[in-house]
Amino acid sequence: MAIIIPKNELEIIKKHAADIFPYEACGGLLGKIEGENKFILKAYPAENRYGKITWDSFEIEPKDILEMDKFCMKENLDILGFYHTHPNHPAIPSNFDINASWPFYSYVILSVKGNAPESVADIKSYLMPDRNSAPVYEEIVIKED
Ligand SMILES: [Zn+2]
Repeated sequence: MAIIIPKNELEIIKKHAADIFPYEACGGLLGKIEGENKFILKAYPAENRYGKITWDSFEIEPKDILEMDKFCMKENLDILGFYHTHPNHPAIPSNFDINASWPFYSYVILSVKGNAPESVADIKSYLMPDRNSAPVYEEIVIKED
């Protein structure tokens, strides 16, 4: 089981991550499930409801969730996960992340060190089956266009 992200969508995520640094960026990951794998077809940069927060909490603005839903209906996709950044912190879920998570979704976390897309130091994906157990690491496959 893996999450497959096209290189150009990953570039969109990295650019968003770097632009918002030193604050926490977040967004949606839209795509399709095929077999055991999640194929991401669209990264959807969103606004963090917590505003200029430095790393440990994010919540996607409801207006962005609505936009994502509309896009998914039009393109016949599903919201398969969310990405967010940890500026100057490792790509490990915070306690907030674990408590605010939902089963099924993939949570992609990027560790960011600066304002250039090259400043993304690490990217990891996790499944968080429930609040009382540890996040499960999910393999990320970067697909060349
Ligand atoms: Zn986090």
